[in-house]
Amino acid sequence: MKVGSPRFKEKTLVALADPNLRQALGQSRKGFVNGRAALVAGVPEFEAMRDQARDVKNHVLANLDHYLERFEASVTAAGGHVHWAADAEDARRIVLDICQRVDAKVVTKGKSMVSEEIGLNEALEEQGYTVVETDLGEYIIQLAHEPPSHIIAPAIHKTKAQVAELFEAAHGGPRKTTVGELVTEARLVLREKYFQADVGITGGNYLVAETGSSIIVTNEGNGDLTQTLARVHIVTSGIERIVPTLDDVALFLRILARSATGQETETYTTLSTGPRRPGDVDGPEEYHVVLVDNGRSKMLGGKFQDMLRCIRCGACMNHCPVYGAVGGHAYGWVYPGPMGAVLTPLFVGLDATRDLPNACTLNGRCQSVCPVRIPLPELLRELRHRQHEQGLRPPGQTRAIGAWRFVAERPRLYQFANRMAARVLKKMGGSAGRIANLPGGAAWSGLRDLPAPQGQTFLELWQARRK
Ligand code: SF4
Repeated sequence: MKVGSPRFKEKTLVALADPNLRQALGQSRKGFVNGRAALVAGVPEFEAMRDQARDVKNHVLANLDHYLERFEASVTAAGGHVHWAADAEDARRIVLDICQRVDAKVVTKGKSMVSEEIGLNEALEEQGYTVVETDLGEYIIQLAHEPPSHIIAPAIHKTKAQVAELFEAAHGGPRKTTVGELVTEARLVLREKYFQADVGITGGNYLVAETGSSIIVTNEGNGDLTQTLARVHIVTSGIERIVPTLDDVALFLRILARSATGQETETYTTLSTGPRRPGDVDGPEEYHVVLVDNGRSKMLGGKFQDMLRCIRCGACMNHCPVYGAVGGHAYGWVYPGPMGAVLTPLFVGLDATRDLPNACTLNGRCQSVCPVRIPLPELLRELRHRQHEQGLRPPGQTRAIGAWRFVAERPRLYQFANRMAARVLKKMGGSAGRIANLPGGAAWSGLRDLPAPQGQTFLELWQARRK
């Protein structure tokens, strides 16, 4: 997938002017946020579970080599194959080799962010394979020739009317008008594809070291059909998705659905362990797991190791005001929102992603809902710091921060400047108490008014109240 992050600002302006995006994002995110809040409130041990999940992940990351080798041994014992991919090119080559060897024609795919990360669809299509996304959201964006805009709801940016238009163009009329009709139409089209598929590719929410199982969770059951009906099942997964035991999976399943979609549990949780055994009524003839590094091992042992705890629940983007305003496509790569603003610079480089770590108000909502307690604001600050060290910040911004620092290090001057600013801004706000054009802040006040202060600094108000 091409990196569009250098055009972040341009993309945000397009997104902000799109009424369909506003409507689509508003409805879905509200459902996720309210659903999470209601369910978490009913689980008194939820905070303890977050601590436990963080600790399990930290333990795995500290012993990743051990658990990966154990996983490989368990998969092999169950009759499957593990492939190690150092980067995206490696991963694509491994999958293409398997498809070629088994003489595949049709490839079905369950949702897999790693396959987006490695550009798998494009590579398969270039080689002449028919690729069919079976997750409804992924199917919609495949028809629209767009990348996902959310990691658990790839078509969250589409309204019902836009989906109906896409389906009419792809399947023929008459145009459907209800969600039920649209889902039924997609089911009928996709069902045929499951039976035609030679290879089924899924992601892996969890890879269990003790049993060699890969686990996927879906709400549509498409993952089960993708991996069960094809002759060959290929799992593409990041190396960090390992968990030691099935007991650990139980913990993660409890926090994942609540954090992601505000459900107690996803509708389908499917475990795959090796290929079909003698006596099994169904299952693939071959079972492969492609373990993708692609920059992850470089994060181990460094300041960004915490990011490897991510279980791709999407809660951070559901609660992020910036994502809520501009949607996922503005971020310009596979991973959007707060987790994407950290991961994208680490995967594709700081230079191509200069705006991402700065597109954050550091309000901390993402961290407060992250089920594995990833300190996202802290990681974004660290990326800003590295940008500064590498001279990647705009010179004007560096000078402005230098000036602010000069003043901030001199408390009397700082308080004087604050007092002056409070009085001048009050005057500028006039009787309406709002500033429409902020000198030096046109980019900010061009989209909204700045509420004028009351004419006193916080310190003055505080002292007055104490008296
Ligand atoms: S960073 Fe945390 S909240 Fe965001 S997707 Fe990952 S696990 Fe979920």
